Amino acid sequence: MKKPFVTLEEVRDIVKTYPTPFHIYDEKGIRENARKLKAAFAWNKGFKEYFAVKATPNPFILEILKEEGCGTDCSSLTELMMSEAIGLQGHDIMFSSNETPAGEFTKARELGGIINLDDFTHIDFLKEECGIPETICCRYNPGGVYEVSNGIMDNPGDSKYGFTKEQIIEGYKKLMSLGAKNFGIHSFLVSNTVTNDYYPMLARTLFELAVELKEKTGANITFINLSGGVGIPYYPDQEGNDIMAIGEGVRKAFEEIMVPAGLGDVAIFTELGRFMLAPYGHLVTKAIHEKHIYKEYIGVDACAVNLMRPAMYGAYHHITVLGKEDAPCDHVYDVVGSLCENNDKFAIDRKLPEIEKGDYLVIHDTGAHGFAMGYNYNGKLKSAELLKKTDGTIQMIRRAETPSDYFATFDFCDVLKKF
Ligand SMILES: *Cc1c(COP(=O)(O)O)cnc(C)c1O
Repeated sequence: MKKPFVTLEEVRDIVKTYPTPFHIYDEKGIRENARKLKAAFAWNKGFKEYFAVKATPNPFILEILKEEGCGTDCSSLTELMMSEAIGLQGHDIMFSSNETPAGEFTKARELGGIINLDDFTHIDFLKEECGIPETICCRYNPGGVYEVSNGIMDNPGDSKYGFTKEQIIEGYKKLMSLGAKNFGIHSFLVSNTVTNDYYPMLARTLFELAVELKEKTGANITFINLSGGVGIPYYPDQEGNDIMAIGEGVRKAFEEIMVPAGLGDVAIFTELGRFMLAPYGHLVTKAIHEKHIYKEYIGVDACAVNLMRPAMYGAYHHITVLGKEDAPCDHVYDVVGSLCENNDKFAIDRKLPEIEKGDYLVIHDTGAHGFAMGYNYNGKLKSAELLKKTDGTIQMIRRAETPSDYFATFDFCDVLKKF
């Protein structure tokens, strides 16, 4: 069972000030989960989580995570700017970009962030743009197919990221000749893994690579970045990850491979996004229409602009009808938004309690890769983001867009002045 962290009474109160649709985040849940992650890796002296900003790019959320000891993982200029705005700098920032536009490495270096290179050719690109820093990281792609457990796998051989094995060896040598002194290894092979085996298995791959790199290049390896990919159970009957077991699995591999190789001081970094935030965000929307044709439809005031995952990936997001948590799910609906796109459906053939116009629906697990993936198709505007603080009060952490925001990029001319 998935239980919303807001009640019908709370939502009725919130909509007096902030109309639906809106995203709302649970500060208490975010903090407790961040502390669990820290505890799971407490065995590693240098452990640090760099929250993947792209998952939930909101400075108020980043500030909470900063208070919990997290840095940020950025991949663009604006993500770097947001990290700077909340006072992060130096090795609290990781810059894991790819196909990096000119100027962004410079910004990352100005902030003192750690640059994680995606490709061998980026060594020269970086050198020419702003020089090679003392501490640098390279992203590894082992190629082939990567299988974890219970059928979870991905196809690194088809993915655009990272250096091959030969390239990372040559890359380290080249970087050392250009003045780099401290090295990291990064890899991201499978997304949204719901198994305790992924991180330990990836860690093994990267630890073995670290030993090989040390032998073949003599480089001083100071950290291993396991990146993102630890997932969450989107389905209500799915069992989630046990982060303590994951931390323990990585520790075992570390003791077996790193310690005997004299690499026992190497720090473990993570760049989790989804695991840190997804369960602690809801998209709250109101049923505004019902339609009975060949199927039964419930039209809501949110649309794929507010949450793209169902339209883009066919992703499942659980829905709770507030106030009807215990009612029988004896109706079958498509819950749909208002885009002129037939994939704008939050749920298809979903068993739900009878929904009436005016009912509030909570769409679960939207705290990561939710608001962030929003766009403005059909001229739809992005919603507000709210924070349910630890003391239960509500804080607006992003206002809703207005038509002026939508038209702002025409401000160089007079045509739309009246907006
Ligand atoms: C997207 C991304 C992450 C976060 O991924 P999650 O699946 O949200 O954990 C981390 N690192 C990099 C480089 C990414 O692109």
